[in-house]
Amino acid sequence: MAIGWCCPCCGEVTTEAATGALELYRADGVFNKHSKRFGPWCRACGRRALFHEGEGPPAPVPHPPSARVLLLSGTCASGKSTVSYLLSERYGLAQIDGDWILDLRRRELGRKVSLEETHESMLAMAVGMVALGRSAVIAHVILPQALAWYRAHLAARRIVHRAVVLMPPMDTLLERNRTRDCWPQPTPEYWVHKFVDDLRAGPESVHALFYDNSRETADETAQRLWELLRRLS
Ligand SMILES: [Zn+2]
Repeated sequence: MAIGWCCPCCGEVTTEAATGALELYRADGVFNKHSKRFGPWCRACGRRALFHEGEGPPAPVPHPPSARVLLLSGTCASGKSTVSYLLSERYGLAQIDGDWILDLRRRELGRKVSLEETHESMLAMAVGMVALGRSAVIAHVILPQALAWYRAHLAARRIVHRAVVLMPPMDTLLERNRTRDCWPQPTPEYWVHKFVDDLRAGPESVHALFYDNSRETADETAQRLWELLRRLS
C-alpha cells in the first residue's frame, strides 16, 4: 500500500485532494471541554481516515519543513488539553489529544486499549498531518520511556519536533485538579502524584523538558510553545 491517507470505505486520498476530502475534527463539539474530536474524517462517508506508511523500518516522510510536531506531556490537570486546544485554535496545529483518542479507539475496537496502542495511533496521526504540511500537537501523559519512543520515531522520519512536560508545582496541580470542570469528577489525586513521580524518575534529558506554566495563562503558554516550536531548525 502506498504511503498516505486512506478512507477504509472510499480508498486512497491523495495529498492534493486531502484538504477537500478530509475533515480534521468532527463537527459535533469538543470532548471533555477542550479536546477536539480529531480523526481526520472522510467527508464523503464519515469514516475515520487512516494514515499508512510502507512496510519495514520507519523511513523519512516527505513534508514541508514548516510542519513540526510538539509532544506535550504532563500529569493530570497540568493544562495539556487546554494548551493544545489553544495551539490548534490560534496557530493551526492539529490537536491530537490522548483523552479523546483513547475514547475513540475504545469505541472503535469495543475493548480496552493499551497505552502503547494509543501512542501508536497518535504517532500515525501526527506523521500523517505532517505529510499534509500541517504541524500537530500530541497532548497526553507521555512518560519518559514513551517520550523516547516518540522522539526516535519522529527522528527516523526526519520530522522536526520538540517535547515539553508541563510541570507546575504540586499545590497548583492539586488546586486545578479540584476545580477543573472538564471531567465529571476530579481525577483521584493518586494519579496526579503518580505521573509527576514517574516523570521525575526519568533521566536528566526529561527533566530538561519540564516547563512550569503556573504563572502564565493558558494563552501565554500556548504562545510560548508555538514560538519554541517555530524557532527549531
Ligand atoms: Zn470515505
